[in-house]
Amino acid sequence: MPDHHQADAQGVSRRKFLTDCAAAPAAVSGFLNPDGEAVTAERAPGGSTKPRIIDCETHIFPRHWDFRGCRVENLLQDMDRCGVDKTFLMFYSASVLASPCGELKDPNAKRFGDSNEQTWEYFIESWKKHKDRFYFFNATDPREPDCIKKLEQQRKLGLQGLGETQPATQNILPNGPEFMPVYRFAAEKGLPVVLTMERWEQSLCLKSKDFDDVFDMFEKVIREFKDVRFMLGHGGNCGSCKARPFEQYRAANERCYRLMEQLDNLWICACMPWWIAQNKVHPSFPKLLEHLRSRIGFSKVTWGSDWPYCGASKEFSFKSDYDTVVDFFRKETPCTEEERAQLLGRSAYEFVTGQT
Ligand SMILES: [Zn+2]
Repeated sequence: MPDHHQADAQGVSRRKFLTDCAAAPAAVSGFLNPDGEAVTAERAPGGSTKPRIIDCETHIFPRHWDFRGCRVENLLQDMDRCGVDKTFLMFYSASVLASPCGELKDPNAKRFGDSNEQTWEYFIESWKKHKDRFYFFNATDPREPDCIKKLEQQRKLGLQGLGETQPATQNILPNGPEFMPVYRFAAEKGLPVVLTMERWEQSLCLKSKDFDDVFDMFEKVIREFKDVRFMLGHGGNCGSCKARPFEQYRAANERCYRLMEQLDNLWICACMPWWIAQNKVHPSFPKLLEHLRSRIGFSKVTWGSDWPYCGASKEFSFKSDYDTVVDFFRKETPCTEEERAQLLGRSAYEFVTGQT
């Protein structure tokens, strides 16, 4: 049974944290008009009402990439059909796309048929056209020498959050010197940050095979930047966990949950890509949701599809996969209506805006 007392106590403390966030002038910068000036949530681009259903992880791919179905129109069609109001739209720079667990090679090479500039232009064009449907996130690459300068420029275009960070993919440590200016930028501008632990087992620079050592690095960052709202993407320690029995998966994530109990600035995203195949929800996934609900409550739990990766049955998403993902959260998660509203959108809204 859920420990409502604990969930309530967390709710009060979370609200205080968010009130403090809102009191800081930079915190409202999650919403910026095209001139880079802060505006209130109520006058946020494209909408006067709060979005009810928010998907915390989606990506679009370069325009000229052969693979069909990964472009902004496809995403919007899926969102419309499934009743999803907004998503975190995460921009991958070409350097991130090009370096799965390796060093940055030729930064000018074309990937997926497009140059860096074309990749960026397509993303920003999509964002400008559909500001009412997306929150603008950037999966920053701290290896790029002009990383902070780019972030400054993106902020003028309306950047609303950083992430998902990709330390393992970028072959740098999550608390390494490269990332510090990025976290400081988030702190100064009041921007939330989505952290990803995915692929830590394969990372070339994370030598340890012990998740505790890896988590120590993330925990240091989350504790040091205590005014920054952080979210653990993909449910925390993800990846290879899915093949294990549920109790082992739960145990492997225990430190994530414990830290969430202790800190107000930490959210977790129950993101699906490892938990769905052949359009079926993995039998452990409802157990995970029930565990999160009873252990920490849904006040800081969000959901994400990782569109177009949702539905790992095939290489990329097809229409029906998104229905499966959204329907699981919307209909099948056993919880009260209040909890469902929190899980579907309110937690994400509070995370991204710093406002209740
Ligand atoms: Zn991700």
